[in-house]
Amino acid sequence: MSDFPWLPEEQRNLYIDGTWREANSGERFDVLDPADGSVLTDVADGSTDDAMDALDAAAAAQADWSRTPPRERGEILRRAFELITERADDFARLISLEMGKTLAEAKGEVTYGAEFFRWFSEEAVRISGRWMQAPAGGSRLLTVRKPVGPCLFITPWNFPLAMGTRKIGPAVAAGCTMVVKPAELTPLTMLALAGVLEEAGLPAGVLNVVTTTSSKELSATLMADDRLRKVSFTGSTPVGKVLVRQSADELQRVSMELGGNAPFLVFEDADVDAAVDGAMIAKMRNMGEACTAANRFLVHSSVADEFAEKLGARMGGLRVGRGQDDGTDVGPLINPEAVESIGELVTDAVHDGARVVTGGSAPDGPGWFYSPTVLTDVPAEAQINKVEIFGPVAPITTFETEDEAIAAANATEYGLSSYAYTRDLARTIRLAERLEFGMVGVNTGLVSNPAAPFGGVKASGFGREGGFEGIEEYLETTYVALPAD
Ligand code: ADP
Repeated sequence: MSDFPWLPEEQRNLYIDGTWREANSGERFDVLDPADGSVLTDVADGSTDDAMDALDAAAAAQADWSRTPPRERGEILRRAFELITERADDFARLISLEMGKTLAEAKGEVTYGAEFFRWFSEEAVRISGRWMQAPAGGSRLLTVRKPVGPCLFITPWNFPLAMGTRKIGPAVAAGCTMVVKPAELTPLTMLALAGVLEEAGLPAGVLNVVTTTSSKELSATLMADDRLRKVSFTGSTPVGKVLVRQSADELQRVSMELGGNAPFLVFEDADVDAAVDGAMIAKMRNMGEACTAANRFLVHSSVADEFAEKLGARMGGLRVGRGQDDGTDVGPLINPEAVESIGELVTDAVHDGARVVTGGSAPDGPGWFYSPTVLTDVPAEAQINKVEIFGPVAPITTFETEDEAIAAANATEYGLSSYAYTRDLARTIRLAERLEFGMVGVNTGLVSNPAAPFGGVKASGFGREGGFEGIEEYLETTYVALPAD
């Protein structure tokens, strides 16, 4: 294990109050390579008292940090952006090793993830309040924006870097301190990121990282403490609901970026080749392990055969393999449970009448792989249309009218991203207004952009990350009344 060179040995530990250290218990846990299940290395397994040390550090650092000039906070983020960019290859390799995605995709995540630091380095200096005259005259109304206070960030394994920078960037810009708990399946990238922020000059205590296998206990302990003022979570809807309930006792502010079940609509007037290109991105980015991933392909019956055939040819031509190998298009899934649950969804869909255009099984051999799969003639009520697949499977269901398509798209408890291919402008406007999703991609398979507000409605949660909105999640407003007469 000690020959694992991608993260300095010292940093495979907790990062608390500017110090890298072992867990108080001395416990550690293994990080596995999803391409073959072997152990990459191990990291400290923090317990609730380590988490408390982290919150103590965050709480102690809050007052000074909130008084640090915005330009200084922004420049730390800017330096961190530059360091990540310089080390993009190293970060990409680390992400690929612990998470499985290809090096090219990991590089894409590094660019995307680093961009949140650049964006929020620019936003840090644009925090401002307002001044107005009271409608009846007399007093003047002033608003002051202040950091919300110490935050807890819980991040998932699918984008180990970007899901961190998307929260850390605006929090640093706003003047908040934080405790970060990365996913136990992919803790290494977050530790490397903490190293970069330290190097960029982030003061001790502002960022604390606790790697742990006891996420539930950690969140329950920290959220019972009234010094913690904000929780931002990206992960599954059931865990999000637990955290929202938990936030009630101390009334922490919460941002929840939860599951999705994105529809991908292809209308009769669509450019089908462009729709196939978009589908490849919306479906296959991150092997389908993205909450924005196209989950249900709703295609007009007149173009469904052409779309299924062309998508099948593209998906069938992808090379599955280890993410670090040349020529790999699709890496492994995160764990054996993922392969099993995707296999069950495909088997059930076929049982319900779906036809396999390509794929439909897990390849033999080590690692947790699933072949890129296209299913057509999938009944609308099939289970695969109801749940988040989180893997490289594209189920196609047909529709006849726009109203039917919109109703089908909205027939889910989720509301994160949606996609539509059409060349009709009026229809585009109707879709933007009627689709019940936080994001609508029109004639594109990629909606994520650090300058845009990312987030969902309904069971996909609330709050927005990125864009001008992103920093609002970390600011409170104090109103000051000033009599003028
Ligand atoms: P996924 O299905 O993507 O793994 P989860 O919601 O299970 O999504 O995990 C997302 C993050 O939430 C991970 O960092 C995980 O450790 C953490 N987590 C899981 N359960 C809890 C919990 N009860 N309290 C706090 N964090 C949790």
